[in-house]
Amino acid sequence: MSKWVYFFGDGQAEGRADMKNLLGGKGANLAEMANLGIPVPAGFTITTEVCTYYYENGETYPSDLRQQVMDSVKAIETIMGATFGDAENPLLVSVRSGARTSMPGMMDTVLNLGLNDTTVQGLIARSGDARFAYDSYRRFVTMYSDVVLGVDHYHFEEILEAHKEDKGYTLDTEMTAEDWKTLVGIYKTKVKEQLGSEFPEDPVEQLWGAVGAVFGSWMNQRAKTYRRLHNIPGHWGTAVNVQAMVFGNMGEDCATGVCFTRDPSTGENAFYGEYLVNAQGEDVVAGIRTPQSISIAGRKKSGSDLPSMEETMPQTYTELVGIRDRLEKHYTDMQDMEFTIQKDKLWMLQTRNGKRTAAAALKIAVDTCNEGLIDKETAIMRVAPEQLDQLLHPMLDPDAPRKLLARGLPASPGAASGQVVFTADEAEDWVQKGHKVILVRVETSPEDIGGMHVSQGILTTRGGMTSHAAVVARGMGVPCVAGAGEIRVDANAKTMTVGGTVVKEGEIITLDGAKGEVFLGEVPTLQPELSGDFADLMEWADAVRRMKVRANAETPEDAATARKFGAEGIGLCRTEHMFFDPKRIIHIRQMILAEDEAGRRAALEHLLPYQRKDFVELFTIMQGLPITVRLLDPPLHEFLPHTDSEVGEVAKSAGVDVAEVKSRVSMLQEANPMLGHRGCRLGISYPEVYEMQARAIFEAAVEVSQTSGQTVLPEVMIPLVSSRRELELLRGLVDKVAKETFATKGTEIPYHVGTMIELPRACLQAGVIAEEAEFFSFGTNDLTQTTLGMSRDDSAPFLEVYAQKAIYPRDPFQSIDVDGVGEMVSIAAERGRATRPGIKLGICGEHGGDPSSIQFCEGVGLDYVSCSPYRVPIARLAAAQSVLLKGQGAEVDR
Ligand code: PEP
Ligand code: MG
Repeated sequence: MSKWVYFFGDGQAEGRADMKNLLGGKGANLAEMANLGIPVPAGFTITTEVCTYYYENGETYPSDLRQQVMDSVKAIETIMGATFGDAENPLLVSVRSGARTSMPGMMDTVLNLGLNDTTVQGLIARSGDARFAYDSYRRFVTMYSDVVLGVDHYHFEEILEAHKEDKGYTLDTEMTAEDWKTLVGIYKTKVKEQLGSEFPEDPVEQLWGAVGAVFGSWMNQRAKTYRRLHNIPGHWGTAVNVQAMVFGNMGEDCATGVCFTRDPSTGENAFYGEYLVNAQGEDVVAGIRTPQSISIAGRKKSGSDLPSMEETMPQTYTELVGIRDRLEKHYTDMQDMEFTIQKDKLWMLQTRNGKRTAAAALKIAVDTCNEGLIDKETAIMRVAPEQLDQLLHPMLDPDAPRKLLARGLPASPGAASGQVVFTADEAEDWVQKGHKVILVRVETSPEDIGGMHVSQGILTTRGGMTSHAAVVARGMGVPCVAGAGEIRVDANAKTMTVGGTVVKEGEIITLDGAKGEVFLGEVPTLQPELSGDFADLMEWADAVRRMKVRANAETPEDAATARKFGAEGIGLCRTEHMFFDPKRIIHIRQMILAEDEAGRRAALEHLLPYQRKDFVELFTIMQGLPITVRLLDPPLHEFLPHTDSEVGEVAKSAGVDVAEVKSRVSMLQEANPMLGHRGCRLGISYPEVYEMQARAIFEAAVEVSQTSGQTVLPEVMIPLVSSRRELELLRGLVDKVAKETFATKGTEIPYHVGTMIELPRACLQAGVIAEEAEFFSFGTNDLTQTTLGMSRDDSAPFLEVYAQKAIYPRDPFQSIDVDGVGEMVSIAAERGRATRPGIKLGICGEHGGDPSSIQFCEGVGLDYVSCSPYRVPIARLAAAQSVLLKGQGAEVDR
């Protein structure tokens, strides 16, 4: 017999924290808390294996599940001293989802289960509060009908509104016990009308309905979208947690709240949380009432005059602080906890490692290490490299003029400007059309995540720091201002109003998510400083990592940024990008369009001084670090003149007529420019181009060496090589120019010549190519394009479908396709090393800045990764984590 159900309660549990794969995060942690003797309402977890079984067997359950569930219900009854379906002392339960990693709000929940016309009497007797009991009952009927029976929520909203109007009420709080009781009856009639069958009265039937709905919700659209965005595999499945209900809404000695052992925004070691008196848990998270701070310090900081829990319930607060300390020490990490107080008794409903901003993640990792809770290696693993991105992003320029529109809560840091839109769908539409948007909502709900993800920033007018918008935005790293209550949103009119100012759809606003401020128009931003905790963690990571981290940079600004972020050289200087400047592009065009060598040489004469000057600057900025200069690789379509005025300019500069230029342009049009006359093919056809570039490199190197005495380390890289012979010819050319230059200038500079490996044939031929190449740099952008046969410029629309169908779960242009492209890289590395042991190997495609691709690179033993300057810190951390993960025998996620 298999074990499908794990029980917890009364100071013990069958599960443990390390059983997350089986019990889900929530179930495993409930078990752990029960084992620690922390007060947890008794309950049980139905394992994720049941979810897998359910989907593999036509949505049915294992035959022995029913008995195990019913035995566990009995066990809850014993501990809680109440009986499921009992008229006098009924046990009520909650039924919730719980996957391995939390998916907030994505799946279904049913509360107050077990209520019917009989048990509600027991609840009245137990609570002494008929209004509370009928309110709970109607909440249950609404939730169950919506989630399990598929009767939409709005039916019940309409009935409630009609009833209130009849009675002349404006608020729900005016509803009496009798009113709720009447409503329950009307609700049930509505259900019967919609479904043709009665609302289930039998608690056991209710329970199985809810369990099925939770398993079913694993495959709902929003859960699928969330999994895709967060790389959560569909086969993990969810567990189901069934747990005795405790009530935070039974009166003024009841409350419910959410708290964090440290501040999730700043990481400060201060107990942080929000609570509501006389409320159910969902009220805090849903942002319906504005919650109060749990501590006096927190209340003061937020400028609120609503009393804190420390003041209203001092004893329970002290108990909660004790639990905070124990849980944090036990888990050695910041915890996010949910609690309910029923008639002054504290119950813990959940604990998990809390989501946090990047700044908080850094601070908590460094602080907990310094406090001796964890070691440096653990600290390195505690910060998700991608999260650092948030810290490397712009902040508002403090000196820039600005017009404050409104204030809200600083829910997720970073600054962003964009055009206002009022629905998540519009956000997606506008972004598709190339706009940058700020999504403005009264409050967000799980259906909005697609739109939230594509927005530059999110602004809500209701809800606290733990509202859906705040939690989700922090997780996504999108700046968010929440609960900006002075703003009135009229979604129909597509306007928002503050005081006398009306902002219409499409107008630009700016958010400062770190301060919670909203500004009219665009406010300029500044780059952040990288010191303190950031510098500490980077230092620890640098001590652990094996691979070097270089940057892809071609301008002095990029090179300087790269140095600031700790780049150890330039791994890719795309020389064609040095010609985008209008003064220069004209000569590149002239060169491309020239009819003969003489015409090309004339254009190249103009380009040489620019190139030399650029290289002098790069060599100077990089202060002796290696610089890989890639010779020209222009996909022609990016450089040909398009407009009449561009054509006119080229004609004028080359001294030929417009018709001639036009005819050259049309001759050079390629059906497939990515596979056309680019890369080393250009150098093979027109050696004078590469000759000029090599001259510029070596002259610059000599100049810097002679004037400053500084070491220069040029590495000349030939792109798009597919055969040894290409490299042999071009290397010969480079060596010849080097020799001439050094002889003329009287100084010799050590240099290397190597190649990009970015074509499948080059990977297979790497053994012979290595005879000519002193280094390989994997150009995984082209290698992905050519291995998969998918255009890097045209594949986004269908790759989206591919991701949904789990063909390539991640975009292979962002995260390396380990099985295909990865194997190509492994073959090339192996064959290259066989010919030239110790050959230097690097990567310079986009993947060089992607953490799981970096993990792959560590596995293959590359010497360095090269990525865009802003990703350098991410790569440094990811490279360190890769070493630690390798030590743990972890495989790269596919
Ligand atoms: C590559 O192909 O991966 C590469 C780095 O070169 P580019 O993106 O310039 O083609
Ligand atoms: Mg390339």
